[in-house]
Amino acid sequence: MIQANAAMLISGPTGSGKSSLLATAAEYCYRHHKGITRLAVCDGGGMGTKTEALCELGIIQPFKMRSRVGGGAEGLVEETIMRVSQGWWPSEFLDPVQGIVREGVPLLPPMSTDFVSKCPKDHELQRVAMRGLLQPAQCPQCRILIPLAQAKITQETRVTPGFERVRAWACDGLTSASDWVMLSLADRTGRLELNPNDKAAIGRVISGDMAFAGNTRAHYGFAQTQSEKWLLHSTAIPGLALPPMWTSLETRIDAEGSLALPFYGPAIAGSAKTWKVPQWVGNYIGAAIVTDSKGKKEWRLYLSEFRGEDQIPHIYKTRAEHAGMLPGWLSDAPPHGVEGKPFSGFNLGKFFDLLQQAKEDAKRRLVDEYGEIKFADVANPVLLSTNVGGAVAAAPANVAAAAPMVGAVHAAVAGPPARPMILPPRPPSLAPRVPSVPKRP
Ligand SMILES: [Zn+2]
Repeated sequence: MIQANAAMLISGPTGSGKSSLLATAAEYCYRHHKGITRLAVCDGGGMGTKTEALCELGIIQPFKMRSRVGGGAEGLVEETIMRVSQGWWPSEFLDPVQGIVREGVPLLPPMSTDFVSKCPKDHELQRVAMRGLLQPAQCPQCRILIPLAQAKITQETRVTPGFERVRAWACDGLTSASDWVMLSLADRTGRLELNPNDKAAIGRVISGDMAFAGNTRAHYGFAQTQSEKWLLHSTAIPGLALPPMWTSLETRIDAEGSLALPFYGPAIAGSAKTWKVPQWVGNYIGAAIVTDSKGKKEWRLYLSEFRGEDQIPHIYKTRAEHAGMLPGWLSDAPPHGVEGKPFSGFNLGKFFDLLQQAKEDAKRRLVDEYGEIKFADVANPVLLSTNVGGAVAAAPANVAAAAPMVGAVHAAVAGPPARPMILPPRPPSLAPRVPSVPKRP
């Protein structure tokens, strides 16, 4: 399994193949994990033919975020992007192949929690969304009234129907999402929801029944903070087998403060935090079209720092421990691609395979040094059901706390989809887990 716990950012100019790369990731996800890819679209540009084909087959589920906001639902811009970055998804589509929804359609979270009460003999009494809704109930089997104090109350987390097969997630893209927030803030200023007198270049412009305004410095700060949150939130989307993927345009950043030399970085509204964006992601890689030595155009996916004709660096980085574990770039030319075969090397699947290989190499080196290493905990199932009181007071929270939620979901959805994804709680008397000391050979 590739690390899905850090976001991935694919940067590059318009037309450099970023969206096509997302299609290669969706294909990879289908081939290796039999999963579908959700694609949140913010860019105005249409989809490539390959993406369209994948959408028609259901391998990609697109969502054009702008259709939710539309003309009559101003104010939903910030919510739409924030929720989508947390893995929320529309409850219904007008056109699922194009990813069009009606304005203001409700969004559903990837997982939801039920409070369940049971009689002392474990017959289910009630299942509700909020604990306060639980009431004393008659057990249908025991035929006696169970007061709440005697009921066993547990909290069960389950995957929202339709989310079980989602194993990859992408947003196209970060730049247009942050620009969209800026537009929304200007709209709000025009409507006087926000103060227009904050050093704005333009105050308020009235035209007929409409009011317009420019952006203020505070707007840039807001949009930048949102961008950081989106990237971080996306790492907590449960069930993903691949890192959450974002695309962005690039912008040249000139010397500012301690940064002496200009460089290219991801474009988000304003430039104050642009140089920080790569810190918010695990892999920051770049798509570019270059002319090879024979004068032929070549699509390249850069995995480490790259300088174009202007000699200004694009500061790409990957999570591989040191340079040399991965090639500088991938293209459709050998050794990573097959000459004349599009997307044979310019392919995110190829990148994921190389990352996986780098991890296996690292593991092998560790085993060479320390001998076979086996901690029982790594393979243990993890609790998704937490006892929250009632007759059984001892909550196994101490057991569950050790394992992150995301990992738990991975473990549970690895097999055929099963719902609800609840594993039997451990007995509260469970002895503390003491990892055995690995033996040297
Ligand atoms: Zn009963």
